[in-house]
Amino acid sequence: VDNQKEETMTTQNDFLKDTFGLAGKRALITGSSQGIGYALAVGLARAGASVVLNGRDEAKVAKAKAELSALCPEAEVHALCFDVTDHEAVRTAVDDFELSTGAIDILVNNAGMQHRSPLEEFPADRFEALLQTNVASVFHVGQAVARFMIGRGRGKIINICSVQSALARPGIAPYTATKGAVANLTKGMATDWAQHGLQCNAIAPGYFDTPLNAALVADPDFTAWLEKRTPAHRWGKVEELVGACVFLSSGASSFVNGHVLYVDGGISVSL
Ligand code: NDP
Repeated sequence: VDNQKEETMTTQNDFLKDTFGLAGKRALITGSSQGIGYALAVGLARAGASVVLNGRDEAKVAKAKAELSALCPEAEVHALCFDVTDHEAVRTAVDDFELSTGAIDILVNNAGMQHRSPLEEFPADRFEALLQTNVASVFHVGQAVARFMIGRGRGKIINICSVQSALARPGIAPYTATKGAVANLTKGMATDWAQHGLQCNAIAPGYFDTPLNAALVADPDFTAWLEKRTPAHRWGKVEELVGACVFLSSGASSFVNGHVLYVDGGISVSL
């Protein structure tokens, strides 16, 4: 009986590794020195991928790298600092990394920012910063990495959008515009690049407790509203985004293209 159990476990483990395993794959996650990006990097590393951490602040990225390496000692972890809004820096960093270290098989376009203000007072420079950080970066980093992926005839791109891709909330109209654009850019990437063997999909998170949401987390009225409004009646935990990311990074999603996968406790489908 024990032998039989062991055999079943081995079969199950083999199935999971074959279907969702990322051994031998390398993933670049933009904006992964904290928050959602860091959690996704840990999850991808646990699924067997080598990970490339990114952010603008070298010390923060180095700290994240040390922490991730301690959590997953068997994982290969790289640091690649660049500002996703600096198009030349993006192109140079990706080119140098691909040529010196090796292929980026999975790209997670996660770096993003938020700014809250009534729309009639919204500063023009914050609007421009949101466009550059949340949307133009997906195009520039996506294009820089996709050129290599296309050459290899395979690759996975996962763009992080938001429930705000489909729904508006007061005070963040420009953010809503950027996240809607990321969802549609994902569909365009999928449409253009499927013929080259790439899959491009998006994850739309609901509300998660990260530094980006510090002001909301500190506001008990917001949490009360969120707990009432979300069918799951709670904030999301960043680890709860990992399953979607591993699925979209793995062979399990080989025929999924241009999809926006909501991970939001049901908030986007309920009134
Ligand atoms: P955080 O603010 O906690 O983290 C953002 C990360 O991106 C940091 O590592 C930051 O590092 C990096 N970053 C910011 N700007 C740049 C840049 N120009 N170039 C390179 N790196 C940059 O955000 P979250 O983890 O909460 O959010 C991650 C993504 O998820 C964003 O796209 C956000 O819009 C999206 N999202 C988040 C939700 C949430 O509930 N938290 C909900 C829905 C979507 P540094 O500043 O040092 O460069």
